[in-house]
Amino acid sequence: MIPLHARVVDAGREARALDGTLAASLERSARLAVAVLRAPAVLISLLGDDRRCFGAGELLPRWLAHDPGALVRSGLCSRVAALGVPLTIADVRADPHDDIASLGTSLGVGGFMAVRLTGDRGEPLGIFCAIDETAREWTEEEVRLLTDIAEAAASELSLRRRLAERERVERQLRHDSLHDPLTELPNRAFFMERLGQAVTRARARDDHQMFAILFLDLDNFKVVNDSVGHHAGDELLIAVARRLEGCIRGGDMVSRLGGDEFALLLERVQDARDAARIAERVQEALAAPVKLGGYELFTSVSIGVALSSSANERPEYLLRSADMAMYRAKNGGKARFEMFDPAMHAAALTRLQLETDLRRAVEREEFTLAYQPLVSLATGRMVGMEALVRWNHPDQGLVSPNDFIPVAEETGLIVPLGRWVLWEACRQLKQWHELPGGEGLTVSVNLSPRQFTQTDVVGEVARALAATGLDPRSLKLEITESVIIERFEQAAQALAELKRLGVHVHMDDFGTGYSSLSYLHQLPLNAIKIDRTFIASIDSDERALHLVGSIVVLVGNLGLESVAEGVTSVEQMAALRELGCTHAQGYLFSPPLEPAGMEAFMASAPRW
Ligand code: C2E
Ligand code: CA
Ligand code: CA
Repeated sequence: MIPLHARVVDAGREARALDGTLAASLERSARLAVAVLRAPAVLISLLGDDRRCFGAGELLPRWLAHDPGALVRSGLCSRVAALGVPLTIADVRADPHDDIASLGTSLGVGGFMAVRLTGDRGEPLGIFCAIDETAREWTEEEVRLLTDIAEAAASELSLRRRLAERERVERQLRHDSLHDPLTELPNRAFFMERLGQAVTRARARDDHQMFAILFLDLDNFKVVNDSVGHHAGDELLIAVARRLEGCIRGGDMVSRLGGDEFALLLERVQDARDAARIAERVQEALAAPVKLGGYELFTSVSIGVALSSSANERPEYLLRSADMAMYRAKNGGKARFEMFDPAMHAAALTRLQLETDLRRAVEREEFTLAYQPLVSLATGRMVGMEALVRWNHPDQGLVSPNDFIPVAEETGLIVPLGRWVLWEACRQLKQWHELPGGEGLTVSVNLSPRQFTQTDVVGEVARALAATGLDPRSLKLEITESVIIERFEQAAQALAELKRLGVHVHMDDFGTGYSSLSYLHQLPLNAIKIDRTFIASIDSDERALHLVGSIVVLVGNLGLESVAEGVTSVEQMAALRELGCTHAQGYLFSPPLEPAGMEAFMASAPRW
């Protein structure tokens, strides 16, 4: 009786499990051959990695105790495998080669016929053989039948292998598309996918189980990259990835979002403290130095934490919230974590709106200039004015420069805006020089650091002067210390060129920043504007008075003028005069005025 179940015999070393349907189909071919050839056993032996045997026939169980594949591997079939020439042997036991004959005897094999399984690219896939226990002359018809069955089996085998290969490639592609090649961590796409699932699950549940996102950014990665090299940078990222993996529980995910940004998805978090504990654990884990080829690199991270909540339903919002909190942590001094709170979101939205409005305002020229008188303390007369930009927002009315200058600075919008201010101030003053009381007045224009370092300020100033016909000696530029501290060489050169043009330069807000006195004599400056916070307290605080006095003397010794900002009382004015301060500005004289107000002010020629 032919056993209908055929057994798969592992003839090789631990081989990859073949697809079950492939086994079934080869067994079907084997059974067909058994029936058609009336052979007591049929064996299919695969070549290559699989090296598996499939078989059918009543004699098969007896051979399972031995190694039926031995027959195929014995050298008997090598010509079949190599050349695809069918082999027929009437009695293996009588083979002229002793080893083969004895193998035939030990396995009890008489008649033997083998054909090759050939893949669709002509490659050998295996051997398909029919076996009889007694001697048997195989007919040509039988050889043809076995060849036909083998061909059908081979084409199926080929097809399945191609499918399996395609699946493998697809799996690989999918893996690659979801992982970061450097650290092997899940990438941003994978993270967002998992985050989406977590959000969906959280929505479906109504228990109070939460999850959390930690958004991580290395604090000094750029420095490492620039100083120790990209290769070390890569190694550091890999080391960080491994340490982060050590910080999470099963079911959680660590992902590299890109660059030096990582994210953790923590499922099952009880409360904010729970998430905070993990953030602390991450920081501890990264505190130990990373040893990289002779260097010990210390790294720290800034972490933003966002917790799932009904207000934060969309995955991308959650990630952005964690990102915002991370920025908070960075700005708060790095190497720390911050929890997201909705106020941050509101602030970010306001800021975003401001940016959009500001862009439009630059295009539509929604700005005007206000002018604040600059008074000489020696004569008590106005000698000039400072141009202060005003934004007339279509819905919000006048917006303070303190609110939009920093944003304009960050976004680069300060460049076109600052250019407009410069040109407008020059144009206006040139016109006012013709009015009663306008003769000889100067205008001071504030220049922001970005204008100074990222544009050709000198060229721009020269063009504005030439186009408006304003005397360069009527223009003063106000810069802040940060420009000088950060780009000393560049600033020094620009200042020298401005001096050559005949334009004066004032150091603004002196005393609020670095207050470094060392550069004062190295740079061609004309005046120092003493910040109003010092002026405010001179009539009540002795030390403030002395401090301002010292600045005035020091500045005077260097041949510079001194401008007191924010003078609001007659007493302050008197004290400043006494100290030898040369100029003053402030509400005592006048707040910043719109052009028509300034024209009236000039005409009235007040005196203090
Ligand atoms: P700043 O350059 O120090 O300008 C002086 C600021 O102090 C002005 O505020 C002015 O209105 C205010 N002020 C004047 N006198 C007094 C006083 O007696 N008491 C008090 N409490 N304040 C007084 P404003 O116009 O709001 O400008 C604020 C800042 O915005 C300016 O500070 C300047 O840094 C910046 N800014 C204004 N216009 C421009 C500009 O065109 N370009 C650039 N880059 N920055 C500008
Ligand atoms: Ca100023
Ligand atoms: Ca100032």
